[in-house]
Amino acid sequence: MRSFLYPLAAISLVGFTVSALVHIYSSFGWSFWESDPTAVLHIGAMITFVPIVIITVTSMQEVPQDGIWKQLLRGLPPWIRYVGYLLFVYAAVNFLLRQFLFGGNAVNDSNLFSSGWLISYGVSAAVYLSLAKTKTVVRRCINGHVVATDQSNCPECGNEVLNDA
Ligand SMILES: [Zn+2]
Repeated sequence: MRSFLYPLAAISLVGFTVSALVHIYSSFGWSFWESDPTAVLHIGAMITFVPIVIITVTSMQEVPQDGIWKQLLRGLPPWIRYVGYLLFVYAAVNFLLRQFLFGGNAVNDSNLFSSGWLISYGVSAAVYLSLAKTKTVVRRCINGHVVATDQSNCPECGNEVLNDA
């Protein structure tokens, strides 16, 4: 798995950049969707996201719900999560503004989809870069208990966390 992290991160970053370009162009009313080389971005966004779902399902059962993203992104600075929230808020505001202020015509498929791709590729890139930096998917003490990202010692046995990058 580890050797796939950098290629997946690279694909996600390329997808993010191309999606940003499509989003900027489509903001001015140009839709690429019908002619359609950008469907590749749609498929790419799904392919890069699937391993994250698998990692979460297979490795995060013992992690509390609100700790999953913190564990997945703990190899990166904490502010990276706020960039993610911003992308979500932007996608929602962009859609609502175009839908209700400017009428349905201002929403074209390329514009709508690309705001979603930005979130998908952005999250994927962040998770793969983070996992490449941390030695384990989930932070654990030497006895194997899950330890939250804001705790320095295990709440269960008091032991420290080893090998946490
Ligand atoms: Zn422990």
